Amino acid sequence: MKKPYCTQNNGDCSTCSLVNYNRDCQNVPLWGGIREGAGRPSTGRKRQSFYITDEENEQLRKYLEELRNPAK
Ligand SMILES: [Zn+2]
Repeated sequence: MKKPYCTQNNGDCSTCSLVNYNRDCQNVPLWGGIREGAGRPSTGRKRQSFYITDEENEQLRKYLEELRNPAK
C-alpha cells in the first residue's frame, strides 16, 4: 500500500520496518493487512515454518486433523 508520507521502500509501506508491530514507518497503526478479516473471531492460527520431510508433513497433517476434530 503506497502512503505519501512513507520515506522507505519507494512508499511501499507494507514492507516498512515496523509493519511487524502493526505500525508503519511513521508509527501509524496499520489497518487492514494483519487485521484483515477483523470482526470474525480469530482462530489464533498463524503460519509456522520448520523443516520437515514430506512423510512427516503427511503425518502432522493427520495429527492436526485429529487435534481439530477430536474423535467423539
Ligand atoms: Zn513506510
